[in-house]
Amino acid sequence: MSGRVAIVGGGISGLSAAYYLVKAGIHPVLYEREPRLGGVILTERLEGCVLEAGPDSFLAAKPQALELIRELGLESGVIASNDHLRVTYVVKNGRLVALPDGLMLMVPTRLRPLILSRLLGWPTKLRMGWEWFRRPRAEPAPDRSVAEFIRDHYGQEAVDYLAEPLLAGVYGGDPERLSVSSVLTRFAELEAQYGSLTRGVLAERKKARRAGRAQPLFQTLKDGLGQLISALEAAIAGRCE
Ligand SMILES: Cc1cc2nc3c(=O)[nH]c(=O)nc-3n(C[C@H](O)[C@H](O)[C@H](O)COP(=O)(O)OP(=O)(O)OC[C@H]3O[C@@H](n4cnc5c(N)ncnc54)[C@H](O)[C@@H]3O)c2cc1C
Repeated sequence: MSGRVAIVGGGISGLSAAYYLVKAGIHPVLYEREPRLGGVILTERLEGCVLEAGPDSFLAAKPQALELIRELGLESGVIASNDHLRVTYVVKNGRLVALPDGLMLMVPTRLRPLILSRLLGWPTKLRMGWEWFRRPRAEPAPDRSVAEFIRDHYGQEAVDYLAEPLLAGVYGGDPERLSVSSVLTRFAELEAQYGSLTRGVLAERKKARRAGRAQPLFQTLKDGLGQLISALEAAIAGRCE
């Protein structure tokens, strides 16, 4: 490649772009307006505790973060989320209500917690049950917004109380504007293959369990995601301005 490459922003996107460019033999120039790199990723330590000021984990189902961590030699520090202990609360009518157990993001996989949940009304619960019987489409589906996709499978309440709060935490974005094939790639594939997301998630989970590769929902680094930023900084040092 002739010419030079400039990267604007030294968050995880800019740093990983710089890392892969350096790996390909290209020495980019990275512009960062803040005195430190990492963007919204910031890990601090307080009295021996690891505190994440922003993102605290990445989705285990998306392999790219783990691949990068492996390349940087940080794999031994990877820990999994304790999914059986995690409770997430969403504000509904001014009160904190727990998300039902067994959700794979916004896909319900356990009946009893769903039935007992105070977060969703009966029409949504029934619709979630019916979704199980959905068949794959005859034609491949076009890309849609995450909100359209979830509304189509589980209804508006699932967008308001599941997709919106969960994705705001991960992407900081509006589900009406996020693309399903970019953000929920795996779910779009499951829809194409199984029709029903619930059936797809359960079938895939069963396959993974049989193959001995059951995955947690999230993974992170024991010493915080700031470690990933420091390792990227070290890997590009001297080969990126
Ligand atoms: C509170 C919070 C929690 C989150 N939790 C998670 C999570 O747990 N898991 C997950 O997967 N995702 C999470 N996300 C989303 C994830 O953190 C972001 O998608 C990702 O970190 C964005 O990285 P980035 O490099 O694109 O942007 P940023 O981290 O925002 O970095 C952009 C960088 O560009 C710099 N910059 C901007 N404009 C200029 C300019 N003109 N010139 C020079 N520099 C500039 C900024 O100073 C900044 O350093 C969370 C987001 C937030 C806000």
